[in-house]
Amino acid sequence: MLREIGDREAAAKMKDVDLTVGYQGEPGAYGEVAAAAHGGVPRGFASFEKLLEALRDGDVDEAVLPMENAVVGAITEALEPFAAFVVEGLELVAVAVTSVPVRLSLAARPGTPLASVKRAWSHPAALRQCTHRLAQMGIERVVCYDTAGAAQIVAHDASTDAAVCSRRAAERYGLEVLVEDVSDKEQNGTRFVHLRMADHARAQVSLAFLRTSSMTATGRLDVLTGATLLPLAGTAEYPVRMWVLGADAARLQALAPVRDVQVISLGQPAAHAAKITPPKQGTEPVVKALPHATARRAPTVVEVGPLRLGAGARAVIAGPCSVESPEQVMRIARVVASCGATALRGGIFKPRTNPYAFQGHGLDALDWLVSAGKANGLPVVTEVMAVDHVKPVAEKADVLQIGARNMQNFDLLRAVGRAGRPVLLKRGAGSTVDEWLGAAEYIMAAGEQRVILCERGIRTFETATRNTLDVGGMLAARPLTHLPIIADPSHAAGRADLVEGLARAAWSAGADGLIVEVHDDPARALSDAEQALVPTRFAELARNLALHPDARLALAQLRAWVDAIDHDLGVLVQRRLEVAKVIGDSKRQTGRAVLDPRREAAVRRTYQEALPGNKLLADKLVDLLLEAAKAQQSIDE
Ligand code: PEP
Ligand code: MN
Repeated sequence: MLREIGDREAAAKMKDVDLTVGYQGEPGAYGEVAAAAHGGVPRGFASFEKLLEALRDGDVDEAVLPMENAVVGAITEALEPFAAFVVEGLELVAVAVTSVPVRLSLAARPGTPLASVKRAWSHPAALRQCTHRLAQMGIERVVCYDTAGAAQIVAHDASTDAAVCSRRAAERYGLEVLVEDVSDKEQNGTRFVHLRMADHARAQVSLAFLRTSSMTATGRLDVLTGATLLPLAGTAEYPVRMWVLGADAARLQALAPVRDVQVISLGQPAAHAAKITPPKQGTEPVVKALPHATARRAPTVVEVGPLRLGAGARAVIAGPCSVESPEQVMRIARVVASCGATALRGGIFKPRTNPYAFQGHGLDALDWLVSAGKANGLPVVTEVMAVDHVKPVAEKADVLQIGARNMQNFDLLRAVGRAGRPVLLKRGAGSTVDEWLGAAEYIMAAGEQRVILCERGIRTFETATRNTLDVGGMLAARPLTHLPIIADPSHAAGRADLVEGLARAAWSAGADGLIVEVHDDPARALSDAEQALVPTRFAELARNLALHPDARLALAQLRAWVDAIDHDLGVLVQRRLEVAKVIGDSKRQTGRAVLDPRREAAVRRTYQEALPGNKLLADKLVDLLLEAAKAQQSIDE
């Protein structure tokens, strides 16, 4: 299932853009609602074919198509022509998905008694959603091209026929609603995909089309890729064709179990192309024996104050290995908060290999940690090692950590599961992914659903690092569980010089977050001195992960932050000029005009979407870039 958060992000990005969005139907149709969802100007078309032609010919900037309905599943009326256009070579990309709640009412001319209604007009997909209810009422179904169009027909007709349409459409054409909701299922809704021409927009939603003649070829693709499958009737040449929403094309290609599956991709999500999605929603858990941890449900978001992990929300937890003194933890809390970390870590009970090593300051240190967190607006994460600690720590700490050494301390897992606090569960250094999920299941079965999985390195033959960060294991866990998964590069590396590299590797691989050890005087640290990042190195990492600094950070550091962004911008502008030149060469070679006003408008839109609420700046940037490109290629207006 696509995530709601994705819908919202796309919506936010697309506001303020003057876009013509085509839909199939008359004003008042559900397609019109989807077309207007991101601030576009809706334009109705009589058929899906006409709509797609308009998109191809540039008469509209975007088209919305219904793909999936909660009652009847795939909307074949839209998907078939969509498939035909794609097979014929129309290069489209999916830029957003909008869920439109559907309430289908039965409406007729004012004064028509319900008992006299013998026929109901509507779009076939809408009529299918009311099959049982209409049959119960003894009403015959009459197919027409659109729900709002049905309202229009009924309004112009002198009979006692009714329309199945939205209340909005009924009111628009002066009909009276006789039955509020005639869908066979409450909670009805339709998901629309927003399409644009591939050379005018970037794909934001992964959507692929499969051509195949073998039914078995598509078996379990939904389970294996977390995708939604939308099957079509197909043609004699390709009896099974299907749309796949929400899976990445490379994975689909790799998984296609027989050779005659052709994957036509309408694009990867632009950000985090490597991201593997959690299991799609459904009834059976991915692993039967682990019904909580591997339930097929929307991604779990663990949210504690400013800390948000999961479903696209990413965060960094940072702080010292051990809470050493009130002053030490207060200073470090301030540093990490000012660099954009949204939770503070710090150990008060330390699991040490040597029994004579520093064991932590215990519950006194909990008060120091909590004060430092409060003073800097950060929730705190701390480890509990014994069942007896759970209650007193849970009274004050925001998140309870289970350390790697205790991952299979089942009594402790049950105890934290009952404590009423979210749990950060480290993977044991010698534990498999299945065992890690099993440990999460213990906590969840005891009552706590807010579990954060943390990969912190496993023990291998390698001695150059303290542990081996198992990015592969982290990725392998991703499609099995809806829980957020974060990485701990500090305990994996065991050396400060490797922490940033591992942190970036895990982040690029799609981790939902990181937990990083920071100390402002590592030489004197009471535990894990070798792996602590000093504040300047942590600031550098935070900058590279695009966290948001705040004004408490020293001015010199803030300048370094903005300097790094300027450097990146400069490099990107240079790359843009180079690629624009290649495009110019390509057009000259194929005898096409170098300047294309439609392309220019699309570029302008891209910048307006990336800079919401700042149209002036977006336009000025585009003016400058186009001017530079023209100068470079000696093009006169
Ligand atoms: C820690 O976070 O300080 C710690 C002891 O981690 P782990 O349990 O992963 O070794
Ligand atoms: Mn540590």
